[in-house]
Amino acid sequence: MTHVTLVGAGPGDPELLTIKAVRAIRRATVLLVDDLVGEAVLRYARRSTRIIHVGKRGGCASTPQAFIEKLMAAEALKGERVVRLKGGDPFVFGRGGEEVEHLRALGITVDVVNGITSGLAAVTALGVPLTHRDHAHGVIFVTGHAKGQDGAIDWPTLAAAAAQGLTLVIYMGVSQAGHLQQGLLQGLGGSTPVAVVQHASLPQQRHSVGLLGDLTGLIEREGLGSPAIIVVGDVIRGVTSMARELAHESGVIRAA
Ligand code: SAH
Repeated sequence: MTHVTLVGAGPGDPELLTIKAVRAIRRATVLLVDDLVGEAVLRYARRSTRIIHVGKRGGCASTPQAFIEKLMAAEALKGERVVRLKGGDPFVFGRGGEEVEHLRALGITVDVVNGITSGLAAVTALGVPLTHRDHAHGVIFVTGHAKGQDGAIDWPTLAAAAAQGLTLVIYMGVSQAGHLQQGLLQGLGGSTPVAVVQHASLPQQRHSVGLLGDLTGLIEREGLGSPAIIVVGDVIRGVTSMARELAHESGVIRAA
């Protein structure tokens, strides 16, 4: 049977892989790997497995999606056990849906293994709950980089939803930060807390916390870049108060 498995590699920390993902990686004879997949994850592959990096990092030199889809199909049709490793979850902004459609149209069967999406990992890395019931009753996962003009995101409308107590978790937003800051300020106050988390779950993880009115300033000053998640909403207040507590404990701030 000709088959491909799409596997979510999680945010980067190999310990966040599912057991199913590890099993699929071990069974693979060909691994097609996105560049957001942490290198450490590849240690589960057998030595004989052919590893093909097909990264296409936001706007940089890239392997076109059509080529990746063709390569995947060609290897599967040759009888290889093909695993397509994708960062986070394959079906969260990962173009996994397009890959499944392409393969199925060729009569290739596909199964999908969930991964921990980076939006979840980023918020957990900050030590705050995504939906603390005192601060938020829901979450919106949204891309800062929508396809085409027609698909452009209506940031003021999203801001209005966020003002009702929904946390915004924005993928691919760093390069669009100015645009989304402007749009969000039409429905949210400038003092709404924001956080930017880069390389969530990896040893090089960094984050900064600030205010929506200063989002671009924060990103520039701190030199934050892709891959990063931007979180907007009151749940982030927990980070600031937590940071303050830690500062108190360490004597950086003296209790009044
Ligand atoms: N399928 C992936 C998302 C792919 S879109 C998932 O579920 O996580 C690529 C975007 O994901 C990046 O621009 C960035 O916003 C985010 N991302 C992926 N890995 C990340 C990480 N380790 N830390 C922070 N953001 C990450």
